[in-house]
Amino acid sequence: MQQIEQETLRLWEHAFEPNPGQREKFYLNVAYPYPSGAMHVGHGRTYIAPDVIARFQRMQGRTVLYPMAFHVTGAPVIGISRRIARNDPKAVALYRDLYRVPPDVLAQFTDPLAIVRYFSDEYERVMRACGISIDWRRRFTTVDPPYSRFIEWQWKHLGDEDHVIKGAHPVRYCPACDNPVGDHDLLEGEKAEILQFTLVMFRYHDALIPTATLRPETIYGVTNLWVNPDTIYVRTLVDGMPWIVSREAARKLALQDHTVEITGEVAGQELIDQLVSHPLCGEVPILPARFVEPDMASGIVMSVPAHAPFDYIALRDLQEEGSYAGIAPVPIISVPAYGDVPAKDAVERARIENQDDPRMEALTQEVYSAEFATGRLYERYGGEPVRQARDTVAAMMTAEYGSIPMYEFDTRSVVCRCGGQVFVRILHDQWFLQYSDPAWKSQVIEHLDTMTLVPPEVRAEFERTVDWLKDWACTRKVGLGTRLPWDPAWLIEPLSDSTVYMAYYTIAHHLKTVSPDLLTPEVFDYIFLGKESPSLPDRETLDLMRREFLFWYPYDFRFSAKDLISNHLTFQLFHHVAIFPRSLLPRGMVVFGMGLLNGAKMSSSKGNVFLLEDAIQEFGADTVRMFLVGSAEPWQDFDWRNELVASTRRQIDRFRSTIEELRMATGIPGDIDRWLASRLQGHIERMTGALDRFQTRQALQEAFFGIESDIRWYRRRLPAGSAGSSYLRALSSVWVRLLAPIIPFTCEHLWKSLGEDGLVSYAPWPVPDPSLDDAERELTEDLLARTVEDIESILKIIPLTPSAIIIYTAPAWKREIFVTVAAADNKGTVVKEIMKDTGMRRRGKEVTDTVRQCTTLIHKLPPHIISRLIQGMPDEELLFLNAAGFLEKEFGVTVTVRDAGESTHPKAVLALPFKPALVVE
Ligand SMILES: [Zn+2]
Repeated sequence: MQQIEQETLRLWEHAFEPNPGQREKFYLNVAYPYPSGAMHVGHGRTYIAPDVIARFQRMQGRTVLYPMAFHVTGAPVIGISRRIARNDPKAVALYRDLYRVPPDVLAQFTDPLAIVRYFSDEYERVMRACGISIDWRRRFTTVDPPYSRFIEWQWKHLGDEDHVIKGAHPVRYCPACDNPVGDHDLLEGEKAEILQFTLVMFRYHDALIPTATLRPETIYGVTNLWVNPDTIYVRTLVDGMPWIVSREAARKLALQDHTVEITGEVAGQELIDQLVSHPLCGEVPILPARFVEPDMASGIVMSVPAHAPFDYIALRDLQEEGSYAGIAPVPIISVPAYGDVPAKDAVERARIENQDDPRMEALTQEVYSAEFATGRLYERYGGEPVRQARDTVAAMMTAEYGSIPMYEFDTRSVVCRCGGQVFVRILHDQWFLQYSDPAWKSQVIEHLDTMTLVPPEVRAEFERTVDWLKDWACTRKVGLGTRLPWDPAWLIEPLSDSTVYMAYYTIAHHLKTVSPDLLTPEVFDYIFLGKESPSLPDRETLDLMRREFLFWYPYDFRFSAKDLISNHLTFQLFHHVAIFPRSLLPRGMVVFGMGLLNGAKMSSSKGNVFLLEDAIQEFGADTVRMFLVGSAEPWQDFDWRNELVASTRRQIDRFRSTIEELRMATGIPGDIDRWLASRLQGHIERMTGALDRFQTRQALQEAFFGIESDIRWYRRRLPAGSAGSSYLRALSSVWVRLLAPIIPFTCEHLWKSLGEDGLVSYAPWPVPDPSLDDAERELTEDLLARTVEDIESILKIIPLTPSAIIIYTAPAWKREIFVTVAAADNKGTVVKEIMKDTGMRRRGKEVTDTVRQCTTLIHKLPPHIISRLIQGMPDEELLFLNAAGFLEKEFGVTVTVRDAGESTHPKAVLALPFKPALVVE
């Protein structure tokens, strides 16, 4: 197999380099990879599934562009090179042992660009080895000078149209890197959202104790504070005021526009049982609670036991130990579905034993959601619905009682790729893409409406993302990339310089011949927007590029994993609508599921991956392809298991040897060839339909397993000694072409051995030939196959050695009933209808029994067979008489066919249309 693959790769070396022409185009692309490590089988599907579509479209006669480039912007690769430089054991293990980078190359990895060069070559090599039909002439990286000129052009437009603003915002920030961090920069906590808490200020002697809450309206129900007795808190001066907070909180506040000076320590234990003044009135005690995390917000929590299940149960636990009997929950919110004290109600209904119960988190969410949706503050606290009161109370606390905001992640443990903890920082003079702009959002929504999204369910997720997207910190101080044209102290960050590069692909190969200095914004304005300007150089080259861009754009489909919906896939729509005219906006997107390895999520950093190259070595590229696109539809998760992959390889081997046999057959085509030909037209039609809908798994079912099982039946039906007819040669040609998009190496090889010209990659896609349709023949063959199955299952259960089989076919009057029942809209009145006929009426109970049996049978049969049968019942007696020889050969006994209506055998009455009665003697 290896040899076939090598030979085929040579044939393909420049086979997929399309230029504009007369034929219809199809342009598909995927999110380009960040080449900082080796590809694993999870990456494989991301590129292989689009390749199946690319190859399918190409065989349909379209000019297909499938380009690839490498995204190297940002800090990750710098972080990796630093970790390798300081011999970080984890990084070295990953690169030396898992990715098997040769020692001399690894030594060069102290230069970030060496990492990029090594892995982008590696990616190209492995993608080629997978048979992915990419036009490599257009390959580039995002730090190539022409690309930077392109990004400058894009950002000039964004800036001119006020999509970029300067401001102060809370962002995810790594102090070790001194840089804001995006999803791709994170080792842990990729989905972390920044939440805005309100700090409620309690007074303790001369100091303030701030407690952070997302529910300021519950301030009226506070009965106590919680402090962790095992934590050492710090006394600090925050903006000159004395505060008591956790040490972690002090560090966080310093990143959020506060001056922070630590002046001393105070043990949590010391604070227990002390009293603090509630900001509104009265005093409450401080109680001990080990669930309080010093690393969460201020590290001290206010307790609202009537409405917070955690607070309720922590208080109950203490009271069961005999302390704090005087404290009772203070309810302040009424919620329809709950009693007076909602937290108590929820805890008791769920039968929660203590605060360590794992269901507490979900229960808390349930109470919070119910109170937010339907809760209302008691009249004496203002009487507002919770959803309004939250803002009213927060505003009041801020204006009159010293509350301020504090930002914190919604998930614990957010870790940068450099290994450092990530914090929320308020960044000043930062540049933001104004994704919050309602006018920009509505342009995106309007365009989204016109797009084809696969699977359709993702539409709602896109709409939600557009709706909640906030301003995006789009520049960084450190990393690789392009500088912001009007403020070169800043670099454009990775998710923001990778939004319209699908346009760049269309001309990438031409740009390599132009000096980057000539690539002014005016030049790109001409190429992409057709804008004239007096200073344009070399019109001829520019016109060539403009024509090529207009040939390919807009792109037809972008393929990507579903975790990019919430950022990249939506960002690219924002940028397209901001820059390109409506006629050049993206047409469609296909969103993928995730890859699992033996049931667990694949993750390079956790070592749970199987490298794509190893998979190709072990199983062959076609096996890897067929498994990845055939085991699940693209949008479903797939699970790589070596034993299943091995069985895929055996299927391909079987296919290859079958084709080698089929092409040798020379017999005269007979009746059964008509059946085989007719079936094949159906498979062609259904496989084409499946690939039109990107259903690679369904396509494989039709084209591989469907045709294979037909051939098995066909061979069974051949007379003894026959290897089949010359029609099998024609079928082989169709079959090889149908599977070529999925297993192109095998098919390219078989195409040659069939004596066909050229590459199968460019062979015409089979189209169904209606003149070969023979529905009647398919129907009778189906009936015969069902009858054979029935005989086999009878033979399995009877103890005797059979000597004869008698087939009783249903009499004419039962066929009449079958058709009437099958065609009836109202199955309830069908007996009455039939009984209008005097002949039927005379048969009495026999008729009602037959109606019942036919109804059951009709439910079991596939709908396409029913609709065929309504048009005309086959002559079953003739069919079985013709097939008697075949049946005798199959079962080695005499076979007789009789009309059940003329028999007195007790089993004969069981005969139904399309289900003869069978007697084995
Ligand atoms: Zn970092």
